[in-house]
Amino acid sequence: MSTPVRTRFAPSPTGHLHIGSARTALFNWLHARHHGGTFVLRVEDTDAARNTEASRDAILSGLEWLGMNWDEGPNVGGEYGPYFQSERNEIYDRYLAQLEAAGRCYKDESGATRFRMPDEPVTINDLICGSQTINLKEQSATRWDAKLKKDVPANPDLVIRRADGSYIFHFVNVVDDIDMKITHVIRGEDHLSNTPKHAALFEALGAPLPVFAHIPLNLNADGSKMSKRDQGASITDYIEQGFLSSAVCNYIALLGWSPKDDEEIFSPEELVKRFDLSGINRSNSRFDFKKCLWLNGEHLRRLDADELLKKATPFLQDKNIALDDDRLPAALQLIRQRAETLEQIPPGIAPIFEDQIEIDPDALAKISGRENIIDVLQGLHDSFSATAAGWNEDSIKAEIVATAEKLELKMGALMLPCRIATTGKAGGPDLMPLLVLIGQQRVLDRLTTLITKLNSSS
Ligand code: GLU
Repeated sequence: MSTPVRTRFAPSPTGHLHIGSARTALFNWLHARHHGGTFVLRVEDTDAARNTEASRDAILSGLEWLGMNWDEGPNVGGEYGPYFQSERNEIYDRYLAQLEAAGRCYKDESGATRFRMPDEPVTINDLICGSQTINLKEQSATRWDAKLKKDVPANPDLVIRRADGSYIFHFVNVVDDIDMKITHVIRGEDHLSNTPKHAALFEALGAPLPVFAHIPLNLNADGSKMSKRDQGASITDYIEQGFLSSAVCNYIALLGWSPKDDEEIFSPEELVKRFDLSGINRSNSRFDFKKCLWLNGEHLRRLDADELLKKATPFLQDKNIALDDDRLPAALQLIRQRAETLEQIPPGIAPIFEDQIEIDPDALAKISGRENIIDVLQGLHDSFSATAAGWNEDSIKAEIVATAEKLELKMGALMLPCRIATTGKAGGPDLMPLLVLIGQQRVLDRLTTLITKLNSSS
């Protein structure tokens, strides 16, 4: 039987949950879930000066929102805890003693503990980036001396513990991967150059190497390096802007991974089924916010009605739309044909629920100069008020057609004025069902209001 898969996500809590880190977490989570393995969350909080509680909370809640549940880690515990590096000093001391006993490290003149770098070049086989060989001794053969203003021979041996007793990232990272029995280290390519050092430490500690898979960078759309402030960089923004976590997972997965066919829309369950480390691309990915919006729209359209209401509720409450209004389910069905985010839902359906609408001046400018505009609006008003066939999509359409014929215009010429008069906007969901939901009386009142407004301004 093969060793059960154990992956880990090891964030340093020094900022929000960045999309690049979320992608690292997702690939680890998917790999563990796909193989029925264990996904570990380990918080690398040894840098006391830069860690914040707010950052830790944002990372944990971001992962929870994305649906990446961890089997071991903060809040849930596990066999190999504690899962905060700041609480693992005794464990690090134990591994350090092992290195000392094997003669693989020493204290230098400044009191720091150094790991003796191997004389031989170290080779690692990265699953994505291929084989990497580095001579760790040569790599750091010199260092710049500021006082002497020249390169001087450097001590090539890696500091693993500072003179003040605190441990260095490389050491604790490797110790934890050994101690937590991690089988696959899947992380950003920025760590690739460190990996030979890590491999040397694994060897010195008598531990087998895990599989390394370094994921290429994720860049901005223009190819520049993504920074914290760029659009789409923080998971919190997606939550606030009304993205669905399933769509964000789908989007993040496609940033650097592709399935073997052209399919693009996946639920988390489908991702788990399909994900394979061999599908990770070797080239850098580029962020594409439009694609993320499109995917979110596709996921919105796939939600069942109850789920849709549940997800939209906080956004509806924000805009004071009554959740018990009979028209709400139909309004949600209608708006989701066009909406790309939950945030777009309330403004899209507001004309159905609000007593007064505001007319968008840019929308109005599109029609106010038309010479027959009053005739069009008055014609629609008269026709709608006299309709004998009830107030439904068919009857409304028939009245619009009849008005167009009377005025010798094409039906299309009536649609925009009708939409602007009744919703205040130039765009939105399908007009006929929208008018049904707004209701006959309100439609008539709004047509009259716009006629009065245009008459008084001409
Ligand atoms: N704490 C490291 C980081 O946030 C993780 C390194 C790793 O995954 O091995 O970059």
